[in-house]
Amino acid sequence: MKPLLLVVEDEETLVNRLRYNLEKEGYRVAIAENGEDALLLAREETPDLILLDWMLPLLSGIEVCRRLRRARETRNVPILMLTAKGEEENKVRGLDTGADDYMTKPFSPSELAARIRALLRRARPALSEEKLEAGDLTMDLATHRVHRAGREVELAPTEFRLLRHFLEHPGRVFNREQLLNAVWGQDVYVELRTVDVHIRRLRRTLNAEGEADLVRTVRGAGYALKEDAAKNQ
Ligand code: CA
Repeated sequence: MKPLLLVVEDEETLVNRLRYNLEKEGYRVAIAENGEDALLLAREETPDLILLDWMLPLLSGIEVCRRLRRARETRNVPILMLTAKGEEENKVRGLDTGADDYMTKPFSPSELAARIRALLRRARPALSEEKLEAGDLTMDLATHRVHRAGREVELAPTEFRLLRHFLEHPGRVFNREQLLNAVWGQDVYVELRTVDVHIRRLRRTLNAEGEADLVRTVRGAGYALKEDAAKNQ
């Protein structure tokens, strides 16, 4: 999916120009016109990067920056500050507060695009440090490691993708066709019963002796990951 940028700016002409340029660069753009909205949107949408103007109504840019850094959901989101000429002192304070970079208005679209690309590149390892969890099961997306109850589970690539799909949709039941499309892709010809084969393998690898079966078979409907079975261990 295209990266989502949150633009926090109250000057309408600049907002429109930024939106136009950023969408042209292939980004999705969300807009907040004040600090309060910015914090709300940042938490709800978890953008990949935040463009934060310094002079804002309701909450100053520096306060927004501070709160973004304090919240778990937004702690690692790169922040690019937008400052006006002559706000040298604010730049230093902004960087101290946790902004990653700043640009002084007016700036060229191409320079802005370059800075954004650099920040996103730098942030990528942190972004993919994401972990998926269900009960005693954890999947580390950066290292491709899966653990159950502290023990490492070695999954083949297809089983890994299957499990990832389940973990990304906790509790949801998928029929074989949906799993085929999600895990193998729509353009690949695979027989439906192939799904059963891989589910069986996934079960065998995930469940050690004496452990509850994490994969739930729903008669006539398909498969799901059991969330509470793991928790009740
Ligand atoms: Ca402003």
